Amino acid sequence: MGVTFSEYSIANPSAWDYVRPILAENNGWAAFVYTPRGRNHGYSMFNMATGNPEWFCSLKTVDDTGAISLEAIDAERRAGRPLHFLGAGSNLLVSDAGVGGTVLCTKKHLSKVVFLGDRSVVAEAGVMLPRLAVLCALSGLSGMESLSGIPGTVGGALTMNAGAFGLCIGELTEWVEVAGEAGEIHRVEARAIRFGYREAAYPVQGVIVRAGFRFAGGTREAVFGRMRQLNEQRRGSQPWGEKTFGSAFRNPPGTESAGRLLDLSGMKGWCEGDACFSEKHANFVVNRGRATAAEVRRLMARGKDAVKSFAGVLLVPEVKMWGEFDV
Ligand SMILES: Cc1cc2nc3c(=O)[nH]c(=O)nc-3n(C[C@H](O)[C@H](O)[C@H](O)COP(=O)(O)OP(=O)(O)OC[C@H]3O[C@@H](n4cnc5c(N)ncnc54)[C@H](O)[C@@H]3O)c2cc1C
Repeated sequence: MGVTFSEYSIANPSAWDYVRPILAENNGWAAFVYTPRGRNHGYSMFNMATGNPEWFCSLKTVDDTGAISLEAIDAERRAGRPLHFLGAGSNLLVSDAGVGGTVLCTKKHLSKVVFLGDRSVVAEAGVMLPRLAVLCALSGLSGMESLSGIPGTVGGALTMNAGAFGLCIGELTEWVEVAGEAGEIHRVEARAIRFGYREAAYPVQGVIVRAGFRFAGGTREAVFGRMRQLNEQRRGSQPWGEKTFGSAFRNPPGTESAGRLLDLSGMKGWCEGDACFSEKHANFVVNRGRATAAEVRRLMARGKDAVKSFAGVLLVPEVKMWGEFDV
């Protein structure tokens, strides 16, 4: 009695837990044939099997199998297969048809924080801002309180120059390390980065891998107290715990915010399918169920038109969009 798992790394690993005792009882066998595709259960299985004499394990590279020719890989490289960097995806709308190219996600893999003792901290790109804020508070460092309610990573925040309550991440940053195309690391001093309103221009292109920050001193109680106060304020004015990507549009120059303009234009609570401008804050699009990216785009187009007709102001999206959209 035996079983073969084809493409085990994309199968549900509990299937193996289920059949394993049956096979053991019946003196059975199991074979796994798959491409690892990252550090998942397939990868763990491979590691286990390579070090366990009870298992036979054979690794075939692309060169061995000829599944993809070197020429095809080279052609792909030359064609400039796009590479996308993903943090927590909290400021992202991905097309219903997906996105072409390779997506490199930092959130799970670049998660170290090092406290250097002189109030400076090095955080890897995948560290979540709320976690960094709590670690700073526990170490008696003040500075992250305003950003503690932003559900993004350090890398995403440094790309967007994320900010709240009058403070942007750029103001806390000493340097940023960016990995270029060949994996080479460039350390860029903060003064060489142009931090603007929800944008940052770097002198080198690539993926942000880590950054150095300097904070002020504070007591744990005071820092946690301020964090609590700001997050209560946030909860009171924004949809909390709902499915959203934060602000849909940038605030335009002038006195009225994008949220206020959408509200005045009658868009608060307006929906396209399950995508709605929040009743609590009109610049937040919330997914009330099974909203598609196309519905979100249609809603945003409607909001943009309404504000243009009502106030003559052209709203510009803040959310990043990946892939193809019709509107
Ligand atoms: C409920 C809610 C509240 C929010 N409140 C605020 C707020 O108060 N202020 C604010 O500024 N934003 C806010 N946001 C938006 C969002 O959280 C921030 O923009 C955040 O910084 C995005 O981080 P991320 O890791 O999720 O980035 P993602 O959404 O994953 O990516 C955003 C952009 O950054 C790029 N990127 C991500 N990581 C890297 C990397 N390592 N190297 C290079 N490029 C990278 C991506 O390619 C993409 O272009 C809010 C969002 C939500 C859902």
